[in-house]
Amino acid sequence: MNVELITTGSELLLGFTLNTHVNYIARQLARLGLRIERQTAIGDDRAAMRQVIAAALQRAPIVIITGGLGPTSDDVTREVVAELAGRKLLRDESVAESIRERFRKRNRTMPDSIYAQAMVPEGARVLPNHNGTAPGLALSHENVLIIMLPGPPRELHPMFEESVMPLLKKTVPAARALDCRVFHVAGLPESVVEEKVAPVLTGMSDVELGYCARPGEVEVRIITVHADRGDEAERRIRAALGHDMFGAGDVTMEQVVVEQLTAAGKTMATAESCTGGLIAHRITNISGSSVVFRQGWVTYSNEAKTDQLGVPVRVLDQDGAVSEPVARAMAEGARQRSGADVAVAVTGIAGPTGATAEKPVGLVYVAVASSEETVVQRHLLMFDRETFKWFASQTALDMVRRAIRK
Ligand code: AMP
Ligand code: MG
Repeated sequence: MNVELITTGSELLLGFTLNTHVNYIARQLARLGLRIERQTAIGDDRAAMRQVIAAALQRAPIVIITGGLGPTSDDVTREVVAELAGRKLLRDESVAESIRERFRKRNRTMPDSIYAQAMVPEGARVLPNHNGTAPGLALSHENVLIIMLPGPPRELHPMFEESVMPLLKKTVPAARALDCRVFHVAGLPESVVEEKVAPVLTGMSDVELGYCARPGEVEVRIITVHADRGDEAERRIRAALGHDMFGAGDVTMEQVVVEQLTAAGKTMATAESCTGGLIAHRITNISGSSVVFRQGWVTYSNEAKTDQLGVPVRVLDQDGAVSEPVARAMAEGARQRSGADVAVAVTGIAGPTGATAEKPVGLVYVAVASSEETVVQRHLLMFDRETFKWFASQTALDMVRRAIRK
């Protein structure tokens, strides 16, 4: 059974507010086996709302409308729904009382306009809001369940979990929870990931397969309603991806690196130039990283690379700061001077300035030094400055991960 979501609010279309409801509500609904089939964002415009809601009522068994339940003149959701469903708006005294109570507790004078929020379409059920004055509303109309919720996420989220989920559970008892699994892959482009994964899932038509490319990683996603089929698909995907897959679910690369270092009883250090400390930042975002992270340098100038890490002046002069030998010397110097088991170094040209004839913007060398060997990778990352830094840090962390395995 599918759901249609209508998010209202001109701020969403003017670019002032990121529409986070799709993301939040979709993930909640998945737990009940429900999916959003269509999502429309509209401004606070009565005619547009009437059109969009009327159309949704024709095609979806469940329609969720967010926003427009406030007291101001641009909040018209309840009026439009009441009109379309042919219901009168009646003042609900218990809602009015709880609004009065909120104001009394805060010692604030109450404008009369606030009573608009106590108006309830005939036959609708009130969904309490403990974090604001506008209650939610649920209304059954010609086999369609209409759910109206206030726009602010801090009001909507608790209401969704407290009132809407139980209501939906009752409405769709037969629906099976969607088994949705995500696998994270690093070091391979999206097309190669697909070449590896797609063939092993042929014949599993009851498992929906999808991909999402992000800076420095590719997500593989499977969705099914049969948990045993999810298990089988996961087994095949893990076998196909091997160590290129670094984790599953909500895990991040830095979490995996800290976990694996901890498990191996190893430590790491960072020597960063163009990433400006981002690798150290990401590692230290993880609770428990103090056990594995020894030290980090941000050596932006040539002098710092020499003084702090012992990169020979001769090498800097001969090959330039963005070069394989310098990345190698930075990683080996950091490893030696910190006493860590593994050290990672990054040197590159983030751009948009700083390119030379032989060294274009986006060129980056990432080196990992361990007791066995020093590995250096060369990449050309054609991104804006911030994405470049993120991508380089992701590559560096992935190389640390691969070095720990050895
Ligand atoms: P309302 O008064 O119910 O229309 O809600 C307005 C408030 O909720 C504003 O602060 C909006 O920025 C916020 N809001 C409304 N819709 C969304 C949405 N889809 N995602 C995130 N915030 C939202
Ligand atoms: Mg609004």
